[in-house]
Amino acid sequence: MAVNARWQLTLSTVLAWSAALALALVAGFAFSGQGIVGLRLAPGLEIGALLLTPRARWRALVPAFALVHAVVMARYGDAMPLAIGSGVSAALLSLAAAHLLQRDGTWLEGRADDLAAWARFAVIAIVLVPAVDALWGLFLVLTAASAPPAAGAPAIFGAWWLGDALGAAILVPALLRLAPAALARWRPDRAGEALAALAGFAALAAAVAGQGAVLPVLVLPLALIALAFRHGSAGLAAGTAIATLLVLGFTLAGRGPFAAMAVGAPAAVALAQAFLLSAFAAALVVAALGDERRRLQHRDAIAAEIYELVAAQSGDMMFVIRSDGSGRFVSPAAADLLGVPAAALAGIDWCGRIHPNDKAGYETAVAAIAAGEASAGCILRVRDAEGGHRWLDVRLKPSRTAARDGTPLIVGTARDITLRWLREQQLEAVATTDALTGLPNRHKFSELRRAAWQHAARTGQALSLMIVDLDHFKAYNDTYGHAEGDRCLAAVARLIDATVARTDDICARFGGEEFVAILPDTPSDGALRVGERICRAVRAAGLPNAAGPKGVVTVSVGIATIVPVGDDAGVLFEAADAALYRAKANGRDQAHVTDLDDVAPRRAALAG
Ligand code: GH3
Ligand code: MG
Ligand code: MG
Repeated sequence: MAVNARWQLTLSTVLAWSAALALALVAGFAFSGQGIVGLRLAPGLEIGALLLTPRARWRALVPAFALVHAVVMARYGDAMPLAIGSGVSAALLSLAAAHLLQRDGTWLEGRADDLAAWARFAVIAIVLVPAVDALWGLFLVLTAASAPPAAGAPAIFGAWWLGDALGAAILVPALLRLAPAALARWRPDRAGEALAALAGFAALAAAVAGQGAVLPVLVLPLALIALAFRHGSAGLAAGTAIATLLVLGFTLAGRGPFAAMAVGAPAAVALAQAFLLSAFAAALVVAALGDERRRLQHRDAIAAEIYELVAAQSGDMMFVIRSDGSGRFVSPAAADLLGVPAAALAGIDWCGRIHPNDKAGYETAVAAIAAGEASAGCILRVRDAEGGHRWLDVRLKPSRTAARDGTPLIVGTARDITLRWLREQQLEAVATTDALTGLPNRHKFSELRRAAWQHAARTGQALSLMIVDLDHFKAYNDTYGHAEGDRCLAAVARLIDATVARTDDICARFGGEEFVAILPDTPSDGALRVGERICRAVRAAGLPNAAGPKGVVTVSVGIATIVPVGDDAGVLFEAADAALYRAKANGRDQAHVTDLDDVAPRRAALAG
């Protein structure tokens, strides 16, 4: 900005505020009588003007205020020393107040929900600055006034102080509403209601302030509080201004409850001022709370909208539960997920629908959060409306908010993974099952063998491993063809599976025409009996094999038994393979067993 333009802006600011100050000073005379002034608007106006003006212009504004103040007061009859003294002191005190108050940034933008900032305002602009101003004023009146004052010293001091305080209480909050940020929040749609409320308040104030009884006037603070609560600090400022004009006006005219109560105008005005200030202070707290409530409501409304958007888009169910695991809130997505109408969601206990087998996992996750974990999760099934089950991937986090009875809350999401789960189950089945026989495949067998070994090593039980190999199967294929060979393999697989019958026993297809079985807790003699039973069952099935010496399909079985120690290093399988070789060499269609716990000591003895 050009220097000239900036200078012009400063000049227009100074002129506008100076004119306003002159008006405020003149208006003060309407509220004076018998040597006391009931309402002093100058300090409040000066503080408000400084707060609304950039600091760079304060250098021009403060001397202008002192000058205007002195000129107007002298023009209206104050002695020159009194006029200049009070003008300079008001300007300097306002400067000090504005300097201290300007640190309350958000409050200065007209945001009235900061109670601490209001408290600082009250201490500085309503208590301290008016008190110093009044003390200095009293000194000037007693020493510099041309004629002895009509009122006593305490009355002059009290009226000066309370008059300053009332002026600041009315003007500073009202002027802060002119800050650009405050004007941006101006709600024209509520202006009609606000004007009606103020008109009603003015009518009430006029009625109670103009009559002589004390009780009716006590309704004014309540009405002011209501006004402040509904219309915030703007409503408070306007209401205080209306109440002040009417109550002080009537009191100075010798009418109204305060004039009736007190002997003499100074005492009546002091009572009215104190009454107005205390009503203002009470309503101020309520106005700040009301403004804060409106701001929180606004923030809540936005948060709720964002939540609804996210909830609708993700399809995940969001929920809140208590730390005992019982449900409190579910998002609308739960309706789709559980297959219930949205209207039935409010009373639904989705936690009660968790599959009994998955309850423990859920409770463990909830307990982890209750014990202070930052997150926990589980996969569980819930019953849907059709009686089927849905798989949910549940994630939990501690809530920052507790229930109103103090119980900690947990927030969570549940994603429907039913489709993914089924697909994974299918893939898992494909990856671990042999397509021809339906038995576990070699990959799955390795896994099961390791687990069986570890279990037996822990419990100290004997573990037997069996390899079943079809005899002369190459020749079978050559005679009947590969397709018939596959059918034969499937038939033999069923026979083996039926013969290896204990629940913990495991059969698998190892590859080609070789099958394997793991027999936990089975010593060598028992395993041999099972092997021989398999041989008999296959032979007895009488599957024709013209290429074999017996005319029917037969199998050979190699078995090894051990009480496992340490890790499974494959010894058992090698021993079973060696036993199978022996069975083949001995003429096939038979089982052979090697008990490694018998062999090892004997070998060790021989070696020794
Ligand atoms: P042995 O009595 O010594 O076991 O003689 P064998 O002919 O059975 O010999 P080996 O065990 O080496 O036989 C493997 C044969 O099994 C080779 C192949 O023809 C047949 N075979 C392996 N896998 C399959 C399969 O998946 N389907 C079919 N139809 N035949 C298979
Ligand atoms: Mg073989
Ligand atoms: Mg074979």
